[in-house]
Amino acid sequence: MIPSSQTDTARLTLALNELRLPAIKALWPQFTEQADKEGWPASRLLAALVEHELAERDRRRIARHLAQACLLPGKTLEAFDFTAVPMLSKAHVSAITAGDSWITKGSNILLFGPPGVGKSHLASAIGHSLVEKGYRVLFSRTTDLVQKLQQARRDLVLESAIAKLDKFHLVILDDITYVTKDQAETSVLFELISARYERRSMLITANQPFGEWNTVFPDPAMTLAAVDRLVHHATIFEMNVESYRRRAAEQAKGYGRPPQRAASVNTQPD
Ligand code: ADP
Ligand code: MG
Repeated sequence: MIPSSQTDTARLTLALNELRLPAIKALWPQFTEQADKEGWPASRLLAALVEHELAERDRRRIARHLAQACLLPGKTLEAFDFTAVPMLSKAHVSAITAGDSWITKGSNILLFGPPGVGKSHLASAIGHSLVEKGYRVLFSRTTDLVQKLQQARRDLVLESAIAKLDKFHLVILDDITYVTKDQAETSVLFELISARYERRSMLITANQPFGEWNTVFPDPAMTLAAVDRLVHHATIFEMNVESYRRRAAEQAKGYGRPPQRAASVNTQPD
């Protein structure tokens, strides 16, 4: 073995830069010293350095995907109190966050419930877990994404804008029923739903049941067609509880009361 004193360390550093191996670049002085001291076989040293580079590469990729996902900061499963939503099975949500079969088939998740019950939080949390498992996710308020797609349509690049979203295994559309009338008229949302149908997953949150979705699409036939595609392969979670936000505010004021169930939301397609 060449003693490290004979190694051209400046040249090695340059080469590791050139090869884009930052973890090995950072770790080799410490690892080689330890290997020399403890008499590691050369293959063990090489394997240790390579494993660290791989782990670091995974970590960086996940950090990049997390940044691109635009998830809500701090809204993770660890921060989600399942006891506040008794009708939501933690085991079922855990199975969802494992990803795998549903996401590779392009199935959907729909979260229904009144304002403040944790739909956006749960959507973001599911996104977080999936990114950590190596999937790519995009979280967007529905109105923001629709606005971008409308601009793409005006620029005559709607098809490629929708195709670009294919790189995301899951697109989360938060608050679909907040789509405004002028956004509904151009129906880019329908184009997106059709393009992803049975190929790429969507997670949609809504305050309103399907029966009220006529404001989201230009006409009832298109609403029906969109809902049909969304629910064909979908898991529907209904979060019919009292607003967590309101309850938290009331408890802070000192007149907290036990959770109450809100009126049931109809999630059957019309
Ligand atoms: P929604 O999207 O249904 O209107 P949010 O997800 O915005 O509700 O939730 C409102 C606030 O309450 C957020 O700060 C969220 O983190 C918190 N929250 C709601 N439900 C829960 C829960 N079950 N556990 C922890 N925090 C929750
Ligand atoms: Mg919300």
